[in-house]
Amino acid sequence: MERAHNFFAGPAVLPLPVVEETRDAVLDFANLGVSIMEVSHRSKEFDAVMLETQKDALDIMGLSADEYACVFLGGGASLQFAMVPMNFLAKKADYVITGEWATKAFKEAKIVAESVKAEAVKVASSEEANFTYIPKELKWSPDADYAHITTNNTIYGTQWRTTPDVGAVPLVADMSSDMLSRPLDFSKYSLIYAGAQKNLGPAGVTMIIVRKAWVEEKARKDLPTMLKYKTHVDKGSMFNTPPVLPVFVVGRTLKWIRAMGGLEAIGERNEKKAKMIYDVIDAYPEFYRGTVKNPEDRSRMNITWNLPTPELEDLFVSEAKKRRMLGLKGHRSVGGCRASVYNSCPMESVEALVKFMEEFYRAHK
Ligand SMILES: *Cc1c(COP(=O)(O)O)cnc(C)c1O
Repeated sequence: MERAHNFFAGPAVLPLPVVEETRDAVLDFANLGVSIMEVSHRSKEFDAVMLETQKDALDIMGLSADEYACVFLGGGASLQFAMVPMNFLAKKADYVITGEWATKAFKEAKIVAESVKAEAVKVASSEEANFTYIPKELKWSPDADYAHITTNNTIYGTQWRTTPDVGAVPLVADMSSDMLSRPLDFSKYSLIYAGAQKNLGPAGVTMIIVRKAWVEEKARKDLPTMLKYKTHVDKGSMFNTPPVLPVFVVGRTLKWIRAMGGLEAIGERNEKKAKMIYDVIDAYPEFYRGTVKNPEDRSRMNITWNLPTPELEDLFVSEAKKRRMLGLKGHRSVGGCRASVYNSCPMESVEALVKFMEEFYRAHK
Protein backbone atom coordinates (compact mmCIF):
# COMPACT_ATOMS: atom_id res chain seq x y z
CA MET A 1 0.00 0.00 0.00
CA GLU A 2 1.27 3.45 -0.84
CA ARG A 3 0.50 5.99 1.87
CA ALA A 4 -1.40 9.12 0.82
CA HIS A 5 -0.28 12.58 1.93
CA ASN A 6 -2.52 13.11 4.94
CA PHE A 7 -3.52 16.67 5.92
CA PHE A 8 -6.69 15.81 7.84
CA ALA A 9 -7.26 17.93 10.97
CA GLY A 10 -8.27 14.97 13.10
CA PRO A 11 -8.36 12.08 13.31
CA ALA A 12 -5.07 12.62 11.58
CA VAL A 13 -1.82 11.15 10.34
CA LEU A 14 0.17 8.79 12.57
CA PRO A 15 3.77 7.67 12.09
CA LEU A 16 3.88 4.65 9.78
CA PRO A 17 5.93 2.58 12.29
CA VAL A 18 3.20 3.24 14.89
CA VAL A 19 0.51 2.05 12.49
CA GLU A 20 2.56 -1.07 11.75
CA GLU A 21 3.22 -1.84 15.41
CA THR A 22 -0.49 -1.42 16.08
CA ARG A 23 -1.36 -3.78 13.21
CA ASP A 24 0.96 -6.37 14.75
CA ALA A 25 -0.51 -5.92 18.23
CA VAL A 26 -4.03 -6.17 16.85
CA LEU A 27 -3.08 -9.65 15.68
CA ASP A 28 -0.85 -10.72 18.56
CA PHE A 29 -0.13 -8.59 21.61
CA ALA A 30 3.09 -9.24 23.57
CA ASN A 31 3.34 -12.80 22.16
CA LEU A 32 0.28 -13.78 24.18
CA GLY A 33 -1.52 -15.24 21.19
CA VAL A 34 -4.38 -12.77 21.61
CA SER A 35 -5.09 -9.32 20.21
CA ILE A 36 -4.51 -6.11 22.17
CA MET A 37 -8.31 -5.83 21.83
CA GLU A 38 -8.82 -9.19 23.54
CA VAL A 39 -6.65 -8.90 26.60
CA SER A 40 -7.59 -7.92 30.16
CA HIS A 41 -6.69 -4.40 31.11
CA ARG A 42 -5.55 -5.93 34.43
CA SER A 43 -3.07 -8.25 32.70
CA LYS A 44 0.54 -7.54 33.58
CA GLU A 45 1.30 -7.01 29.89
CA PHE A 46 -1.24 -4.19 29.51
CA ASP A 47 -0.40 -2.78 32.91
CA ALA A 48 3.17 -2.37 31.66
CA VAL A 49 1.88 -0.50 28.59
CA MET A 50 -0.14 1.88 30.75
CA LEU A 51 2.71 2.57 33.20
CA GLU A 52 5.27 3.09 30.46
CA THR A 53 2.98 5.39 28.50
CA GLN A 54 2.35 7.56 31.57
CA LYS A 55 6.05 7.62 32.39
CA ASP A 56 7.09 8.47 28.82
CA ALA A 57 4.55 11.29 28.62
CA LEU A 58 5.84 12.93 31.82
CA ASP A 59 9.49 12.33 30.86
CA ILE A 60 9.03 13.92 27.43
CA MET A 61 7.41 16.94 29.09
CA GLY A 62 10.13 17.19 31.72
CA LEU A 63 7.63 16.75 34.55
CA SER A 64 8.12 14.74 37.71
CA ALA A 65 5.77 11.88 38.55
CA ASP A 66 5.81 13.08 42.16
CA GLU A 67 4.16 16.31 41.14
CA TYR A 68 2.10 15.39 38.10
CA ALA A 69 -0.19 12.55 37.06
CA CYS A 70 -0.98 11.43 33.53
CA VAL A 71 -4.41 9.90 33.05
CA PHE A 72 -6.31 8.64 30.03
CA LEU A 73 -10.07 9.13 29.81
CA GLY A 74 -12.82 8.69 27.26
CA GLY A 75 -15.30 11.39 26.28
CA GLY A 76 -12.90 13.45 24.15
CA ALA A 77 -11.53 16.87 24.89
CA SER A 78 -15.19 17.92 24.96
CA LEU A 79 -15.76 16.09 28.26
CA GLN A 80 -12.84 18.03 29.73
CA PHE A 81 -14.66 21.27 28.88
CA ALA A 82 -17.11 20.19 31.61
CA MET A 83 -14.85 18.23 33.99
CA VAL A 84 -12.46 21.15 34.49
CA PRO A 85 -15.12 23.54 35.86
CA MET A 86 -16.95 20.75 37.70
CA ASN A 87 -13.79 19.96 39.63
CA PHE A 88 -12.24 23.39 40.03
CA LEU A 89 -14.75 26.20 39.58
CA ALA A 90 -15.76 27.47 43.01
CA LYS A 91 -15.91 31.26 42.63
CA LYS A 92 -14.49 32.42 39.35
CA ALA A 93 -12.58 31.18 36.28
CA ASP A 94 -11.03 33.13 33.41
CA TYR A 95 -11.39 32.08 29.77
CA VAL A 96 -9.72 33.48 26.65
CA ILE A 97 -11.90 32.96 23.61
CA THR A 98 -9.69 32.29 20.62
CA GLY A 99 -11.89 30.05 18.51
CA GLU A 100 -14.67 27.55 18.32
CA TRP A 101 -13.22 25.09 20.83
CA ALA A 102 -12.50 27.84 23.35
CA THR A 103 -16.09 29.02 22.87
CA LYS A 104 -17.35 25.52 23.60
CA ALA A 105 -15.15 25.23 26.69
CA PHE A 106 -16.50 28.56 27.94
CA LYS A 107 -20.08 27.47 27.34
CA GLU A 108 -19.62 24.42 29.57
CA ALA A 109 -17.96 26.56 32.25
CA LYS A 110 -20.98 28.86 32.23
CA ILE A 111 -23.33 25.92 32.71
CA VAL A 112 -21.34 24.77 35.74
CA ALA A 113 -20.99 28.35 37.01
CA GLU A 114 -24.76 28.73 36.96
CA SER A 115 -25.30 25.62 39.06
CA VAL A 116 -22.66 26.42 41.70
CA LYS A 117 -23.31 30.19 41.81
CA ALA A 118 -19.88 30.99 40.44
CA GLU A 119 -18.65 33.08 37.55
CA ALA A 120 -17.03 32.19 34.20
CA VAL A 121 -15.28 35.31 32.91
CA LYS A 122 -14.46 36.06 29.28
CA VAL A 123 -11.05 37.73 29.69
CA ALA A 124 -10.64 38.48 26.00
CA SER A 125 -11.90 37.31 22.64
CA SER A 126 -10.83 37.61 19.01
CA GLU A 127 -14.30 36.72 17.76
CA GLU A 128 -14.88 40.19 16.27
CA ALA A 129 -12.08 39.45 13.78
CA ASN A 130 -13.25 35.90 13.10
CA PHE A 131 -10.58 34.55 15.49
CA THR A 132 -7.68 35.52 13.21
CA TYR A 133 -5.39 36.60 16.05
CA ILE A 134 -4.45 35.83 19.64
CA PRO A 135 -5.55 38.60 22.05
CA LYS A 136 -2.54 40.32 23.60
CA GLU A 137 -3.82 42.72 26.29
CA LEU A 138 -5.10 40.37 28.93
CA LYS A 139 -6.51 41.34 32.29
CA TRP A 140 -6.47 38.16 34.31
CA SER A 141 -8.37 37.94 37.59
CA PRO A 142 -5.78 37.51 40.37
CA ASP A 143 -8.37 35.67 42.49
CA ALA A 144 -9.57 33.20 39.85
CA ASP A 145 -9.74 29.46 40.62
CA TYR A 146 -8.00 28.91 37.28
CA ALA A 147 -7.38 30.49 33.89
CA HIS A 148 -8.16 28.56 30.70
CA ILE A 149 -6.56 28.89 27.27
CA THR A 150 -6.68 26.86 24.04
CA THR A 151 -3.05 26.76 22.93
CA ASN A 152 -3.75 25.98 19.28
CA ASN A 153 -6.81 26.86 17.33
CA THR A 154 -7.36 23.99 15.00
CA ILE A 155 -10.09 25.61 12.92
CA TYR A 156 -8.78 29.17 12.48
CA GLY A 157 -5.06 28.44 12.44
CA THR A 158 -3.79 30.52 15.35
CA GLN A 159 -1.47 29.41 18.15
CA TRP A 160 -0.19 30.86 21.40
CA ARG A 161 3.54 31.09 20.79
CA THR A 162 4.33 31.62 24.47
CA THR A 163 2.69 30.65 27.72
CA PRO A 164 0.84 33.62 29.23
CA ASP A 165 1.79 34.79 32.69
CA VAL A 166 -1.22 34.33 34.95
CA GLY A 167 0.66 34.85 38.21
CA ALA A 168 -0.24 32.42 40.96
CA VAL A 169 -3.52 31.38 39.32
CA PRO A 170 -3.51 27.74 38.10
CA LEU A 171 -3.28 27.63 34.31
CA VAL A 172 -5.38 25.11 32.38
CA ALA A 173 -4.85 24.45 28.68
CA ASP A 174 -6.67 22.60 25.95
CA MET A 175 -3.67 21.40 23.90
CA SER A 176 -5.64 18.98 21.73
CA SER A 177 -4.11 20.14 18.47
CA ASP A 178 -0.54 20.99 19.48
CA MET A 179 0.21 18.62 22.35
CA LEU A 180 3.89 17.61 22.37
CA SER A 181 4.59 19.56 19.17
CA ARG A 182 7.34 21.77 20.67
CA PRO A 183 9.35 22.35 23.83
CA LEU A 184 7.37 24.25 26.46
CA ASP A 185 7.75 24.83 30.18
CA PHE A 186 4.93 22.46 31.03
CA SER A 187 5.41 23.10 34.75
CA LYS A 188 3.64 26.43 34.24
CA TYR A 189 0.42 24.49 33.71
CA SER A 190 -1.70 22.91 36.41
CA LEU A 191 -3.82 20.90 34.01
CA ILE A 192 -3.39 20.08 30.33
CA TYR A 193 -5.82 18.04 28.28
CA ALA A 194 -5.60 16.80 24.72
CA GLY A 195 -7.88 14.60 22.65
CA ALA A 196 -5.43 12.08 21.19
CA GLN A 197 -6.72 12.14 17.64
CA LYS A 198 -4.83 15.26 16.52
CA ASN A 199 -1.24 14.77 17.58
CA LEU A 200 -0.98 11.70 19.80
CA GLY A 201 -2.92 8.73 18.55
CA PRO A 202 -6.36 7.58 17.47
CA ALA A 203 -9.75 8.90 18.55
CA GLY A 204 -11.19 7.44 21.74
CA VAL A 205 -8.83 8.69 24.42
CA THR A 206 -7.90 12.02 25.98
CA MET A 207 -4.56 12.58 27.70
CA ILE A 208 -4.76 14.62 30.89
CA ILE A 209 -1.70 15.90 32.72
CA VAL A 210 -2.59 17.31 36.11
CA ARG A 211 -0.79 18.65 39.16
CA LYS A 212 -1.59 16.18 41.92
CA ALA A 213 -1.49 18.69 44.77
CA TRP A 214 -4.08 20.86 43.01
CA VAL A 215 -6.45 17.89 42.76
CA GLU A 216 -5.85 16.96 46.41
CA GLU A 217 -6.30 20.48 47.73
CA LYS A 218 -8.88 22.09 45.50
CA ALA A 219 -10.92 19.61 43.49
CA ARG A 220 -14.53 19.19 44.53
CA LYS A 221 -15.12 16.01 46.52
CA ASP A 222 -18.89 15.60 46.08
CA LEU A 223 -19.00 14.77 42.37
CA PRO A 224 -19.98 11.44 40.83
CA THR A 225 -16.99 9.11 40.98
CA MET A 226 -16.18 9.00 37.27
CA LEU A 227 -16.22 12.79 36.98
CA LYS A 228 -13.63 13.39 39.71
CA TYR A 229 -10.01 13.73 38.61
CA LYS A 230 -9.05 12.33 42.01
CA THR A 231 -10.61 8.95 41.18
CA HIS A 232 -8.44 8.57 38.10
CA VAL A 233 -5.28 10.00 39.64
CA ASP A 234 -5.58 7.74 42.69
CA LYS A 235 -6.21 4.65 40.58
CA GLY A 236 -3.47 5.31 38.03
CA SER A 237 -6.06 5.74 35.28
CA MET A 238 -7.35 2.21 35.89
CA PHE A 239 -10.47 2.91 37.97
CA ASN A 240 -12.52 1.38 35.18
CA THR A 241 -11.56 -0.16 31.84
CA PRO A 242 -9.43 2.39 30.01
CA PRO A 243 -9.52 2.62 26.20
CA VAL A 244 -6.92 -0.11 25.86
CA LEU A 245 -6.17 0.05 22.14
CA PRO A 246 -5.96 3.88 21.92
CA VAL A 247 -3.67 3.99 24.96
CA PHE A 248 -1.43 1.41 23.29
CA VAL A 249 -1.21 3.58 20.16
CA VAL A 250 -0.44 6.72 22.19
CA GLY A 251 2.31 4.74 23.93
CA ARG A 252 3.88 3.82 20.59
CA THR A 253 3.62 7.43 19.39
CA LEU A 254 5.49 8.60 22.51
CA LYS A 255 8.26 6.09 21.76
CA TRP A 256 8.39 7.51 18.24
CA ILE A 257 8.70 11.07 19.61
CA ARG A 258 11.64 9.96 21.74
CA ALA A 259 13.24 8.18 18.78
CA MET A 260 12.87 11.36 16.72
CA GLY A 261 14.93 13.22 19.33
CA GLY A 262 12.23 14.51 21.67
CA LEU A 263 10.44 17.85 21.66
CA GLU A 264 13.44 19.97 20.60
CA ALA A 265 13.87 18.01 17.39
CA ILE A 266 10.12 17.64 16.82
CA GLY A 267 9.64 21.38 17.36
CA GLU A 268 12.36 22.31 14.88
CA ARG A 269 10.91 19.99 12.28
CA ASN A 270 7.44 21.44 12.81
CA GLU A 271 8.79 24.99 12.42
CA LYS A 272 10.45 24.02 9.16
CA LYS A 273 7.36 22.31 7.75
CA ALA A 274 5.07 25.22 8.59
CA LYS A 275 7.54 27.77 7.20
CA MET A 276 7.64 25.98 3.85
CA ILE A 277 3.88 26.44 3.45
CA TYR A 278 3.72 29.99 4.86
CA ASP A 279 6.53 30.96 2.47
CA VAL A 280 4.32 30.05 -0.51
CA ILE A 281 1.37 31.92 1.04
CA ASP A 282 3.54 35.00 1.57
CA ALA A 283 5.05 34.77 -1.93
CA TYR A 284 1.61 35.02 -3.58
CA PRO A 285 -0.54 36.89 -1.06
CA GLU A 286 -3.13 37.93 -3.67
CA PHE A 287 -3.71 34.29 -4.55
CA TYR A 288 -3.06 32.34 -1.34
CA ARG A 289 -4.77 34.63 1.15
CA GLY A 290 -3.44 33.51 4.50
CA THR A 291 -6.13 33.77 7.17
CA VAL A 292 -3.74 34.76 9.96
CA LYS A 293 -1.73 37.88 9.04
CA ASN A 294 0.41 38.31 12.14
CA PRO A 295 3.25 35.76 11.79
CA GLU A 296 3.52 35.66 15.58
CA ASP A 297 0.03 34.16 15.86
CA ARG A 298 0.28 31.65 13.04
CA SER A 299 -0.21 28.02 13.97
CA ARG A 300 2.58 25.59 13.14
CA MET A 301 0.01 22.80 13.14
CA ASN A 302 -3.01 24.00 11.15
CA ILE A 303 -2.32 26.37 8.27
CA THR A 304 -5.34 28.12 6.80
CA TRP A 305 -5.86 30.16 3.67
CA ASN A 306 -8.42 31.24 1.12
CA LEU A 307 -8.20 31.41 -2.67
CA PRO A 308 -9.74 34.23 -4.73
CA THR A 309 -13.03 32.32 -5.24
CA PRO A 310 -14.82 29.37 -3.60
CA GLU A 311 -14.72 27.64 -7.02
CA LEU A 312 -10.92 27.81 -7.04
CA GLU A 313 -10.87 26.46 -3.49
CA ASP A 314 -12.97 23.45 -4.56
CA LEU A 315 -10.72 22.94 -7.57
CA PHE A 316 -7.60 23.16 -5.40
CA VAL A 317 -8.94 20.49 -3.05
CA SER A 318 -10.05 18.15 -5.85
CA GLU A 319 -6.84 18.54 -7.87
CA ALA A 320 -4.83 17.89 -4.71
CA LYS A 321 -6.85 14.75 -4.07
CA LYS A 322 -5.91 13.45 -7.54
CA ARG A 323 -2.31 13.75 -6.36
CA ARG A 324 -3.13 11.71 -3.24
CA MET A 325 -3.19 14.73 -0.93
CA LEU A 326 -6.13 14.36 1.45
CA GLY A 327 -7.86 16.59 3.97
CA LEU A 328 -7.10 20.06 2.57
CA LYS A 329 -10.64 21.40 2.79
CA GLY A 330 -11.12 24.03 5.50
CA HIS A 331 -13.40 23.34 8.48
CA ARG A 332 -17.08 23.43 7.53
CA SER A 333 -17.61 26.51 9.71
CA VAL A 334 -14.99 28.69 7.95
CA GLY A 335 -14.45 27.24 4.46
CA GLY A 336 -11.26 27.86 2.49
CA CYS A 337 -8.33 25.49 2.72
CA ARG A 338 -6.43 24.07 5.63
CA ALA A 339 -3.32 21.92 5.82
CA SER A 340 -2.83 20.16 9.15
CA VAL A 341 0.83 19.26 9.51
CA TYR A 342 0.99 17.57 12.90
CA ASN A 343 4.11 15.90 14.31
CA SER A 344 3.66 12.76 12.25
CA CYS A 345 3.12 14.53 8.92
CA PRO A 346 6.29 13.66 7.00
CA MET A 347 8.47 16.28 5.33
CA GLU A 348 7.79 14.60 1.96
CA SER A 349 4.09 15.38 2.31
CA VAL A 350 4.83 19.05 2.91
CA GLU A 351 7.23 19.07 -0.05
CA ALA A 352 4.53 17.56 -2.24
CA LEU A 353 1.99 20.13 -1.09
CA VAL A 354 4.31 23.09 -1.62
CA LYS A 355 5.17 21.87 -5.12
CA PHE A 356 1.48 21.50 -5.92
CA MET A 357 0.72 24.99 -4.55
CA GLU A 358 3.37 26.46 -6.89
CA GLU A 359 1.94 24.59 -9.89
CA PHE A 360 -1.63 25.52 -9.04
CA TYR A 361 -0.68 29.18 -8.69
CA ARG A 362 0.97 29.23 -12.11
CA ALA A 363 -2.00 27.49 -13.74
CA HIS A 364 -4.70 29.71 -12.19
CA LYS A 365 -3.20 33.09 -11.24
C1 LIG B 1 -10.59 18.65 18.09
C2 LIG B 1 -10.52 19.55 19.24
C3 LIG B 1 -11.39 19.44 20.34
C4 LIG B 1 -12.51 18.43 20.38
O1 LIG B 1 -12.04 17.19 20.70
P1 LIG B 1 -13.01 15.93 20.91
O2 LIG B 1 -12.02 14.90 21.33
O3 LIG B 1 -13.67 15.66 19.60
O4 LIG B 1 -13.99 16.26 21.97
C5 LIG B 1 -11.22 20.30 21.40
N1 LIG B 1 -10.28 21.25 21.39
C6 LIG B 1 -9.43 21.40 20.35
C7 LIG B 1 -8.39 22.47 20.39
C8 LIG B 1 -9.53 20.56 19.24
O5 LIG B 1 -8.69 20.72 18.21
